[in-house]
Formats: sequence, C-alpha cells, structure tokens
Amino acid sequence: MLKTVELQPKSLTDYIPIVGEETIEQIRALAEPLKGARVVHINATAFGGGVAEMLYTLVPLMRDVGLEAEWQVITGTDEFFNVTKAFHNGLQGMDLPLTDEMKSIWQQYNQYNAAAFEGEYDFVIVHDPQPAGMHAYRQGRGGRRWIWRCHIDTSTPNPAFWDFIVPYLQLYDAGIFTMQQYVGQGLALPRLAIITPTIDPLSPKNAAQPVEENKKIVRSYGLDLDRPLLTQVSRYDPWKDPLGVIDAYRLVKREIPGVQLALLGSMASDDPEGWVYYDRTVRHAGEDFDIYILHNFHGVGNREVNAFQALSDVVIQKSTREGFGLVVTEALWKGTPVVGGNVGGIPLQVLDGETGFLVDSVEACAEKTLYLLQHPDEAARMGAQGREHVRRNFLSTRHLRDYLQLFSDLG
Ligand code: UDP
Repeated sequence: MLKTVELQPKSLTDYIPIVGEETIEQIRALAEPLKGARVVHINATAFGGGVAEMLYTLVPLMRDVGLEAEWQVITGTDEFFNVTKAFHNGLQGMDLPLTDEMKSIWQQYNQYNAAAFEGEYDFVIVHDPQPAGMHAYRQGRGGRRWIWRCHIDTSTPNPAFWDFIVPYLQLYDAGIFTMQQYVGQGLALPRLAIITPTIDPLSPKNAAQPVEENKKIVRSYGLDLDRPLLTQVSRYDPWKDPLGVIDAYRLVKREIPGVQLALLGSMASDDPEGWVYYDRTVRHAGEDFDIYILHNFHGVGNREVNAFQALSDVVIQKSTREGFGLVVTEALWKGTPVVGGNVGGIPLQVLDGETGFLVDSVEACAEKTLYLLQHPDEAARMGAQGREHVRRNFLSTRHLRDYLQLFSDLG
C-alpha cells in the first residue's frame, strides 16, 4: 500500500467571509452531481514545496463538498529522488545527461509504486514527473480516469528527458498544466486543463497573525525590525537564484546600509540537492551577518514564513525559472509588494508597477527593491493591490472549483 497522508477536516463555509457566499454556492452546485466520487491524489512528498502545501487544503475541501478524496505518497529512496530531481531539471530544460541507469531507476520505482497502489477510484491525479509512470505500470487499473498534473514548465525541455517520458504521459485521460505555454511539444492528451495553483487563506501560513506575534517571531532570529527587511522564501535551488538575491541585496546595501536580508528555505525530502545549494548560498553570503539564512531545522515553519512575509518591506522572488511561485501569492496576500523574476507564473501575480515589479537581472532587482524601500506609500499601495489580486484569483476555493469542473467534464 502507498502511504496515506492524514488530513485535518476543513469546511468551505469558513471561506465565506473571504470570497463571498455566491462563490461558495457555485462550488456546492458544481459538486452536487459528483458526490461520492472516489478521488486520489498521488505525489512524491507530504512535506516541502508547493504541491504538498496545496494538497493539505484541496483534499479536505474536496471531502467537505462530498467527494471521497484521499492523498497518497509514493515510496522512494535517495537513489530515486536524485534521479527524479534530474528529471525535474531536465524537463525544465537543463542540459544534463539521461543515462540508462537513471531510466531504469525511475522505471523500477514507478513499477514498485504502481504495484503498491490499491483500491478503485474514479479519478486518479498523479502529480509531477516522479510518479508519472504509474499509469503505464498499472495499465490504467484502479482508476476510471487518470489525470497527470504537471506543476513544472515543460515548454522547452531537454529532449532526452522529454522523449523518454512522453510515452508514459500520453496514456493519461487528461493533463493539467499551470499555463498553456508549459505544455511541451508533441504531448497530445484527450483533454487539457489550465489551472494555476492557489493558497489557502485560512492556513497557519496565510491567516493573519497578530503583529506583535509576528514581530516576536522575526526578532527571535536576531533581526532588527527598526531596519528595512528583504525576504526570499524558497527551496535552495539554482532556479530560485538565492545567489542572485544576495547580489541584489548587496547593491541595495550600498544605498541603504541598514538593510537586512532573510533567506528562508525548507529542505524537502525529495530534494537531496537542496543541501548542496544551501551550502553554496551560505558561502556566497560570507561574513555578512545582516544576511540570515534559515531553514526548517532552525524552526522555520508555517508561522515563521507567515511572519517574515508579513513584516518584510519587500519580498523578493528572483527565480530564473518558476512553475507558479506560491511564495509570491503568499507574500501578496499579506499585503507585501513583490519584486519577482519575469518568468513562469510570476507575471500572472506580479503585475508590473501594480502589485510589485518584474525584473530580469540582479541590477533591475536591486533598483526596483530600492525604489520600494524609498517610496513606502507606493509600496503599501502595491501591497494592497496585490492582496486584492490574490483574493480574486489565487485562493483555494478557485482551485477546488476548477478541479470539480474538470471532473464533470471528464464524466
Ligand atoms: N516553504 C516553506 N518554508 C520554507 C520555504 C518554502 O514553507 O522555508 C513553502 C512556501 O511557503 C511555499 C512552498 O514551500 O508554500 C514553495 O512553493 P513554490 O511554488 O513557491 O515553489 P516550489 O518549491 O514548489 O518550486
């Protein structure tokens, strides 16, 4: 059996004060004919990263509207996750080799997990490349409809990885991508849905915390709240460009010597490369003690991320490649303007000059960050607009509605 993730119940009614009664009514109406449908989400990890984050809300909300929804996690070892990290990078276009040994490891673990998958479901949603081979190895058994949910950008993949994985993907009844342009060439699925990720406004990471509580948390890491604070929250990963963030911060520091930088990043169990990049980041920061490099072993959890996002003057997300960037959504929801890389799903959220700024270089990142620090009224206005933008477009209720729509369409 695959590992089932235990979930706390959630009630759609609790979201009425945030999104309004009408939205909730629409969702319930859409769910009515789907009552009793058996749904299982399968992914690689219950901890760390955006996918796990979303499933903790989406699955309980599916239950609340009457679906029999579950979340199961595949089994893997470092050997497998090193390979799937290469798949992740390769499918996003990184130039690296795909050896026969890597193929065989991916196949073996998918075969193993397919054999361990039990039960009968109406909808099986397989997230990302790690377990994508499960449909093939089960020959579709156990699911009436199989959906592959891709959270990454496969628009310009490394052909070695793409050509290898496409035959496995081609078997699915539907694909979900974050953006139309992420669909790699040659993948023709019977149905395609474009669904952006969302955040849960009631989760410990996103619900408003008392300001004093936030201050206490941020101060406990040694930061001085009388001085400006920049934060990036991200896994330690080259695409998130933590080294570039440090460079941009250094340019800002020439103008505002008191500025501080916090880099917060959790270590996901499916991301062994994280430690390597964490070390590089620490080395790049050197002896500058105004740079705080923290991760979950420092006790950085949801409430801490919440506090840093809420109290920062500017949140930076200087990705050079990005699926969607939930951390951007989270920061905007707290009314903090974001300076973000002009890639992936970031421009859907950072509306240039309205909810923050889009940048393509270290210099631009520094310039826009400096601008926001020097124009606090503008920054506050953009932050408020950012929160409204998220309220309308990127909350869990919208996500639930999109999934229900897809299930109805698939029948
Ligand atoms: N995250 C966290 N603690 C950290 C770093 C990240 O809880 O120290 C969370 C973050 O708040 C967000 C998710 O991990 O909810 C990252 O999602 P995103 O889409 O930004 O990036 P991904 O890691 O999926 O590429």
